[in-house]
This record gives sequence, C-alpha cells and structure tokens, in this order.
Amino acid sequence: MGKFVNRTVEIRGEYDVLVAGGGTAGVFAAVAAAKAGARTLLVEKNGLLGGTMTAGYVNFPGIFNFWDRQLISGPCWDMMVEFAAEGGAVLPDNDYTKKHFRQQVRVDNFQMAAALDRVCRSSGAEIRLHSMISFAEEQEGGLLIGITGKEGLYAVRARAAVDATGDANVAGMLGYERVRSSVLQPATLENRLEGYRIEDVDGDEVKRVFEAAIEKGLIEPEVFSWKSPYEMLKSGRVNMHIPCPGAEDSESRTAMEFEGRRILHTLLMLFRQVKGCGNIRVKVYAAECGIRESCRIVGEKTMTVDKYMSGHVYDDAVSYCFYPIDLHKLDGGGVHIVYLEHGIMPTIPYGALIPRGSRYLLVAGRTVSSDTETNSAVRVQAPCMSMGQVAGTAAALAARDKIRVGQVDYHKLTQALKALGATVPEKQA
Ligand SMILES: Cc1cc2nc3c(=O)[nH]c(=O)nc-3n(C[C@H](O)[C@H](O)[C@H](O)COP(=O)(O)OP(=O)(O)OC[C@H]3O[C@@H](n4cnc5c(N)ncnc54)[C@H](O)[C@@H]3O)c2cc1C
Repeated sequence: MGKFVNRTVEIRGEYDVLVAGGGTAGVFAAVAAAKAGARTLLVEKNGLLGGTMTAGYVNFPGIFNFWDRQLISGPCWDMMVEFAAEGGAVLPDNDYTKKHFRQQVRVDNFQMAAALDRVCRSSGAEIRLHSMISFAEEQEGGLLIGITGKEGLYAVRARAAVDATGDANVAGMLGYERVRSSVLQPATLENRLEGYRIEDVDGDEVKRVFEAAIEKGLIEPEVFSWKSPYEMLKSGRVNMHIPCPGAEDSESRTAMEFEGRRILHTLLMLFRQVKGCGNIRVKVYAAECGIRESCRIVGEKTMTVDKYMSGHVYDDAVSYCFYPIDLHKLDGGGVHIVYLEHGIMPTIPYGALIPRGSRYLLVAGRTVSSDTETNSAVRVQAPCMSMGQVAGTAAALAARDKIRVGQVDYHKLTQALKALGATVPEKQA
C-alpha cells in the first residue's frame, strides 16, 4: 500500500436512498424510491440518463409482455406507453410467432434520454449527472458514500442504497463478494452506417476484401463471430464483437473504448474498398461501448438456469423476466440461444438483489446474483427496469422502517410494488 493523502471530506447531505448509476435499472430505482416517499439521490457518471439504452445506443428495450401477459409494468411500462403516444417509440405487436426480439420496444434515442429526464425529475428524485461514486463505507444506520463531482470529492449519508452501476462497483467498494463467468460475453460499440445501397454491393467482393484483410492481420476474425461483413452491411451496422477483459474498472473500460473505435474505423476503411461503398459513413455511434456481461454479486439467493427454464416461482419472487438464454460467443459460435417453452414465465427472487451479508445495500440490473446462462437472459432491459423498481421500493421501505434490506417484509414489499403499478408474480403460477 502506498501513502494516503490525509484530507477532510465535506458531508453535503442526508438521504433516505442513494441510487448509484442512472442506467436502465437505476432510473427506475430512483423513481420508485422517490414515489415511495424517500428522499432520493441519483448519481450518474454520464451527462445523460439511460446507460446502455441511451449512451450505449441499445435502443430496443425488452421484453415487457409475452404469452398475452403484461409481465413487467409500473413506471417503466407507463413511460413506454406515454412515450409511444408522443411518437418516440413503437410498441410490440404481440405476435409471438415472430422472433423474440421483435417483441421489444423500438425507441428514439434522443427522445428517450429527454423522457428519462422528465420521468426522473418529476418523481422528486434529486439527480447528479457527471458524478461518480468514489467510496462507500458502512456506518451504524446506513452508508457514507463519496461522490466525485466536477468540483471535486464530497460525501453524503444514505440510510439505504441501490447499486445500479452495471458492474456492482458499490458492492465491491463495500467488500461484498462478486463473481465473473470464466469467459465474459463480448462488448459492442453500437453504430449505424449510411452512404451505400445494399443492392449495389457484391457479397463475394466483400468476402474477398475481408479475407485478405484478415490474412494480412489488419483485423481479427473474432470481430465477425456474430455477423459476417456482408451481413453487417445488410443490417446497416457493424455488429462487432470486442473481447471483454472485465468492465468494473476504468482501465479495462478504456481498453474496450479504444478497441471499439479501432475496429469500427478499420472496417469503415475496408468497406470503402468495395464497389458501391466508396461513400460509406458512420451515421451515428454510441458514446461508450455496450457491455453485455460484467461481474455479478453473490446474493442471498442465486438464480439458476434450471429454475429459469422451468419458470420456477421463488418464494420471494418480486418480478417476472422474459428472454431466451442469449450467450454471445467469441469463438465463432455466434449466439447461443435457448428458447423458453410456451407459457413459461421465469421469476426473479428478492434475495438475488441482496449482496450476501449486506445490511444497507441492494443491487439492481445486470449484476443480479445469477449463473452465467440465467444472467444472459435476465440482463435485458425490461427486467433491469423492473429490478430497479423493486430495489428502489425495498430501499425506501428499509430506510423508512430503519431496518436492514434483508428484513424488508415480503408482503409489505409486494403491496408497495402493486401500489406502484408493478406486476408481482403469482405464487401459484
Ligand atoms: C450490444 C448489446 C446488445 C443488447 N441487446 C439487448 C436487447 O436487444 N434487448 C434488451 O432489452 N437488452 C439488450 N442488451 C442488454 C441491456 O442493454 C443491458 O444489459 C442493460 O441495459 C443493463 O442495465 P443496467 O442498468 O444494469 O446497466 P446500464 O444500463 O449499463 O447502467 C449503468 C449505469 O451506471 C452508470 N455508472 C457506472 N459506474 C458508475 C459509477 N461508479 N458512478 C456513477 N455512475 C456509474 C453508467 O454510466 C450507467 O448509466 C444488450 C446489451 C448490449 C451491450
């Protein structure tokens, strides 16, 4: 250990609930906590809310309804409905003969970021953008949390907190156990292409140009382990796979951002060699790489694939979740998909949001306690939003009743979730 700088940190405020990360899960954690009457602070590192959905340009949240059931509802679904009415989203058509991803909501990126501002601000939650969590310390009755704003370091006290950083950063700072899959799913720098017509492009020529580039070492073959270069042109985006060394620290994040932009730039230059693609351009690209998989907490409960695939209703089930197992592979295996059988509606237990041994911290989003396969399904945006609503509500109850997060009464929690408009799984289902 090196030398520490000895300095005083100003404590600027006291909150009932602090939400770390204003992404897919965090926004709705803050909204739910504020609606439950908690004095709430949301801390987000970016200059906009929405995380992977907006900054990562993964603007197709799913899946809210399936098998003719509204599986996920509450403020997150209400927002989608209002948002669609103003022309910012296209809701799914509930035709279950189509591929599962056709049942996602298609959203306009800018309008979504603006809608999240409105929903979050009108809930009464305080929001700090351009701010990162710097440290977390457990104290009697709550947490002391350090925040680095543009102006420097300060701290706040919170009776309860929700870690929605997507990487369980606060759980790590508090020393709770985190695990990783042996190989993490690859990341993608989302983008959209323009300046060409696919009917003018010869697929064989694309193949030749890219085979030569791989041969010369200009680009790695695993970049194309999801889609071939010609398929990318057809879909209007470079669906790249970037090896993910981990996403919990700034060093690995920096390496992935460099890789994402290097790959996109290299492919752009190669595409320009193809007849019909001389004017191809990147119309839009994400502000940051989208992370499919990071570490996960070891929770009081862990979701397992057998229970997921059989639609097990946990005794502390707080949300539904619907998505096939969806593992992106770097080894040329593309995407490993296992569909849920007809009528199956998997559930998420409250215990999977509680880091083992935690007194004041809950987790929501892709870092929920789950095995690798389950995580590849439960990580999608609608369940993340739903987990946010659960964690925000539970944190508000814990703060109000001055109890630990693990002591929140299941009946009171589900009643509060129903009052919020959220769907709660039926035990006899
Ligand atoms: C390429 C790709 C394709 C995908 N396809 C789909 C799809 O088709 N459908 C679907 O529904 N889902 C899809 N997903 C999955 C889904 O988008 C994510 O798993 C989900 O958005 C994760 O939500 P989250 O809230 O856990 O994390 P995020 O949305 O990433 O939010 C985390 C937030 O925390 C902030 N943050 C991080 N660290 C700190 C810190 N220390 N202090 C303050 N703030 C911090 C971040 O800036 C971010 O805003 C895809 C993901 C990727 C990458």
